[in-house]
Parts: sequence; structure tokens; C-alpha cells
Amino acid sequence: MTRPIEIVLVYQSLLGIYGDRGNAMVLRQRLLQRGIDAELIEVEPGDVVPSTGSVYLLGGGEDAAQVSAVKHLKEDGHLFEAIGSGAVLFAVCAGYQIAGQTFTVGERDEIIEGLGLLDVTTRRGTERAVGEILTRWERPDGVESLITGFENHGGFTTLGPGAAPLAFVEIGIGNANDGTEGAVQGKVIGTYPHGPVLARNPELADHLLELALERRLDPLPNEEITELRRQRVAAIRRQGLRR
Ligand code: GLN
Repeated sequence: MTRPIEIVLVYQSLLGIYGDRGNAMVLRQRLLQRGIDAELIEVEPGDVVPSTGSVYLLGGGEDAAQVSAVKHLKEDGHLFEAIGSGAVLFAVCAGYQIAGQTFTVGERDEIIEGLGLLDVTTRRGTERAVGEILTRWERPDGVESLITGFENHGGFTTLGPGAAPLAFVEIGIGNANDGTEGAVQGKVIGTYPHGPVLARNPELADHLLELALERRLDPLPNEEITELRRQRVAAIRRQGLRR
């Protein structure tokens, strides 16, 4: 019997306030719908993080929780091991920031060392980015796909030479109001949109699964989601024009 694919949801008690746990459910469900056995493993600080996961997920959270999450993940060490052996990390907002080199927290903008899995740095921005975001993402097959979500972050993120932008902003702030959104470095992907973003953007979910499994997956019927996406993109564009 083949082992189920393990989707590891990391520290929801710290990085779980924006509903990003839905990303884990979407990944599992899209595997099950294709007849691929998948298991959702949730770990909290103090639990041993498994090193056998195929996809690890970090979500959004508050400044203090970010500091705590970094401390526990460094003490545990297994996330680094898993990424080193080819697992995918999908990190949203606070999770994205802590995956980087450094980020700042609190009123005094204390600089905290991140996990160093992405060549990005985060500092307090010139404004708080709050609202719907619409970006253009180039799929691995070269076809452009729109990503929608909502962003809510005070930190602005700058990419170093080791990371490439995940997408380009049509509406919203993204990394640092510089036209870029998110970062990719190997199989580590960071991004700002919540939603959960993988529920809103199933092509991105399938991309993560294909990265993890290292093979192409058959498409799933998406009519309902496609119509919802059409309506949402139109709504964001209408709103964006009024900003
Ligand atoms: N505390 C971080 C910031 O404000 C992350 C916020 C979040 O995860 N939404 O930039």
C-alpha cells in the first residue's frame, strides 16, 4: 500500500487567525477527488513537526505569534529537513514574512531573524495594505492566470536575488507597492493573499500539488469555481477603479 500524501498544517494556534487553514483542506480535497490518498496533519508548538510531509502550510497571524512560531520551528528543525528533501512550503502573509531572512515586529520595529527559507526581508511599510488584491501569475506552462484574495499586512517585503516574484499586481499593494506579489525559491512559495487563497484559486492549489508530487495531475471540473472567479474578478476590478 502506498502511504497517503501528508499535508502538514503548522501552528494554527499562532498562525490561524485569517482562515488560511482552508488551504490545507483544499489541497487534501483536490487529491482525494483524483483518487490520491491524502492525510491532513496538524501540529502545534511542542509537537514534533513531521519530516515526511509533502506540503507544509503556514498562515497569517499577529506579530507576537510570528516571533513564537519562528522560535518553535527553529527548535524543532524538521521543517528545514523536509524542505531540504524536496517538500513544498506554502506560506501566507505572516507565514511568508517569517519564511524570509528578517522581519520587524511591534511599535519599535524590532528586527527578528526569520527561517531563511526565502531570500526576502520585511519591514514596516509606508501604509497598511488592506483590501482585495488581484494579481497575474504565470503558470508553469506559460499561461497567465489571475489570483484573487484579500490582503491585510503592515509589513512590506523586498525580494533578494535568490527569490523571484510569484505574481504581478493589477489591483492592491502586494509585496511593497512595487508591482510584485509573493516570492518563489525552489519549492518554497510565499504570498500575501488570504481567502483562503487556494480555495479562490484552484490552479495555484494544483500547481503546489504538482510541485509536491513531481508529476502532472488531471484537471478537475471547475465550472462553478470558474463562474465564482469571473464574478469576483469583475467585482475587484470595479472596486479597484474607485480606489
Ligand atoms: N503581522 C504581519 C503584518 O502586519 C502579518 C499580518 C498577517 O498575517 N495578516 O505585516
